[in-house]
Amino acid sequence: MHWPGSSRERNRCEAVLISPLQADAAPAIGIDLGGTKIEALLLAADGSSRWRERVATPQGDYRATLAAVAELVARAESATGISGARIGIGTPGSATADGLMRNANSTCLNGQPLQRDLEALLGRPVRLANDANCLALSEATDGAGAGAEVVFAVILGTGVGGGLVVRGQLLAGTNGLAGEWGHNPLPWADADDAGAAACYCGQTGCIETWLSGPGLARDHALRSGESLSAAQIAHRAARGDAACEANLQRYESRLARALAAVINLVDPDVIVLGGGLSRIERLYSTVPTLWAKHVFSAGAAQALRTRLAISVHGDASGVRGAAWLWGPPQRRR
Ligand SMILES: [Zn+2]
Repeated sequence: MHWPGSSRERNRCEAVLISPLQADAAPAIGIDLGGTKIEALLLAADGSSRWRERVATPQGDYRATLAAVAELVARAESATGISGARIGIGTPGSATADGLMRNANSTCLNGQPLQRDLEALLGRPVRLANDANCLALSEATDGAGAGAEVVFAVILGTGVGGGLVVRGQLLAGTNGLAGEWGHNPLPWADADDAGAAACYCGQTGCIETWLSGPGLARDHALRSGESLSAAQIAHRAARGDAACEANLQRYESRLARALAAVINLVDPDVIVLGGGLSRIERLYSTVPTLWAKHVFSAGAAQALRTRLAISVHGDASGVRGAAWLWGPPQRRR
């Protein structure tokens, strides 16, 4: 059912009221603050969706971004007849120890005390985590990693991020850096990995520079002189294009090596992939056979129990994980 009036709001893209809320529920509102859109989702205590809406992100305007988030919260509560919902927000980048945003590709957020400002505006505590941590929490709670003890989740998209959940708890880390695997160097580099690129973080040859969509495209352009997007490369490889196939095989080798290092460190039950490149289906069969060569004493691939899985909630993982920052759903008995 469409929320009344949605078509009259200039920047409102989507609004859905899914079902009435039970009076005894303890709901949470998750907000995914992205560079182009802000999505809000109200989840009931049992994990079911009650309301969601998506609006365009005000470009380059921090105050307008805060106001857009507050408006979404007000509309969620008005639509469902509740007040004082718990608020979690997922953002690109992360907060420093003193609460200032850093590394967000929505650059108007950087240097701003986003969490404090939202708490002041909304009159309640707000929890904040980066988008990869939200993916990890969402998938560990009721997605591809549900029931698993250790879940590592990776976003393979415009950038590369990671998040780690252990026994249902997100590990943020004392510096807020847990899971920032994308800014480690690519391990077990070989001759195919010549030509490492500078990363925006100040290092050279970060995993992100190889495994992001732009990284895949750059590698292809370097070898073939052809400028293709990651999606075009995957599509052409599937149709037998030799240069694209070789490019994708290099990508699989790098992803396998990068994930083997994660397995050696935290030995997860499941590694969940999200982001645009996670839709390349062959990764789920090729990468686990390749990572076995680099995992300590792994031997044959079948001896390893770590699963590689695509995210169940897809693009909604960010907003769902943000809602779960206050705790997992309470299952009905
Ligand atoms: Zn980096």
